Amino acid sequence: MSNQPYSFFHSVEKSFDKAAQFTHWEKGLLEQIKACNSIYSMRFPVRMDDGRIEVIEAYRVQHSQHKMPCKGGIRFSHKVDQDEVMALASLMTYKCAIVNVPFGGAKGGIKISPRKHSAYELEKITRRYTSELVKKNFIGPGIDVPAPDYGTGEREMAWIVDTYQSLKPGEIDAAGCVTGKPISLGGVRGRKEATGLGVFYGIREVCNMPDVMEKLGLSTGIEGKRVVIQGLGNVGYHCAKFFREHGALVVCIAEQEGAIFKADGINEELLFQQRKSTGTIIGYPGSIALAKNTDALELECDILIPAALENVIDAQNAPNVKAKIIGEAANGPLTPEADDILIARNILVVPDMYLNAGGVTVSYFEWLKNLSHVRYGRMEKRFNENMNHHMLSQMEKLTGKSVLPEERRLIEHGADEVDLVYSGLEETMINATREIMDVWQANPAIPDMRTAAYVCAINKVGTSYAEMGIFP
Ligand code: GLU
Repeated sequence: MSNQPYSFFHSVEKSFDKAAQFTHWEKGLLEQIKACNSIYSMRFPVRMDDGRIEVIEAYRVQHSQHKMPCKGGIRFSHKVDQDEVMALASLMTYKCAIVNVPFGGAKGGIKISPRKHSAYELEKITRRYTSELVKKNFIGPGIDVPAPDYGTGEREMAWIVDTYQSLKPGEIDAAGCVTGKPISLGGVRGRKEATGLGVFYGIREVCNMPDVMEKLGLSTGIEGKRVVIQGLGNVGYHCAKFFREHGALVVCIAEQEGAIFKADGINEELLFQQRKSTGTIIGYPGSIALAKNTDALELECDILIPAALENVIDAQNAPNVKAKIIGEAANGPLTPEADDILIARNILVVPDMYLNAGGVTVSYFEWLKNLSHVRYGRMEKRFNENMNHHMLSQMEKLTGKSVLPEERRLIEHGADEVDLVYSGLEETMINATREIMDVWQANPAIPDMRTAAYVCAINKVGTSYAEMGIFP
């Protein structure tokens, strides 16, 4: 079924089973949690620009409806198949549970290479896919809410919401049928960078844990850490940006065409602009090109961030990884065999299903914004600014001293939408990191952080089922 040497869904099941033994749930309930509840596999024709009809293969999988709506991105890739979409939908359930986002997991996929299609063809494919979802009741603000994923972004989400709204006239909450939309169509500020920022918050929290860092032989904190990033897409780009802005050195970035190394750090924005104009990351001023792009994964560094696709670290290259921490920004970048090798080598793997949960967390904020029909901060911003101004003036009057102008600006500032989104995301990632670490510390038999994360997720989903009374 899969294009890959083995099934991605099977590897998710394997990780699940490994963790399930550390929980107390009965077998049947564990099987229910693990299973994909609804699988919609579709084929539809689209006439291409050259007049040909192409039959498009596409999927939407709803892994769990223990909380509604279901939630998860839609990817456009020639590698899409049912097995992959099932695996990714499962990861969404566990991801949402860990970060306390009240959704079931889902995922969609269209088997196309977006670069090989014109914008007009992509629009036709996306709109037709959306109407297929509407036809089968697989989309809606209370049913299933797609979002961007590999190969999709704001543009595709705009087509989806527009198609949905035209098929459901008058539905007051229609904007909540998809997240990751442009701001003008009901998107939320901060959604674009959310996954990368969440990865940064998660890794920063891990790096602030003295006992964890001591075991890895690293100093605490982000500053000065050498970071390697695979992928300069939306997630990789924003990871690089936030690590650099907080004092880490992004020493290597890899893309399809190759990998570059620069010991004193790469500026992702300059690199991005260069790639846009020349089509390649190679030739970045002051950098050295590595022989193969996969060499980046084996480079000497403190933190390795695979931010592209699944299964990039396997039994072959895992023994050569030199990073102390691997932050899984992509979904499923390690095979289970690689996981075992890395555990034995005392390399800390910070797992995907919680580390890259920033995207869905901010999607949750966007969905709430759509349901409440009001921008975050609209009601309280001015009130808070007036109050802060008043307090500061009183303090200055009472002390006879005045605050510096830049301090005044900082203190008086009332929260904008983006401030609230960042704050909500930071809080979410810090809490999730601590929850997982607590579970791990409470049971020393748990071998790794991924298993600890799965234990958290299984317990939360299990509790929902149990409290529904299905499994008394
Ligand atoms: N595609 C992202 C993920 O894999 C975001 C999903 C969402 O926002 O619903 O987590």
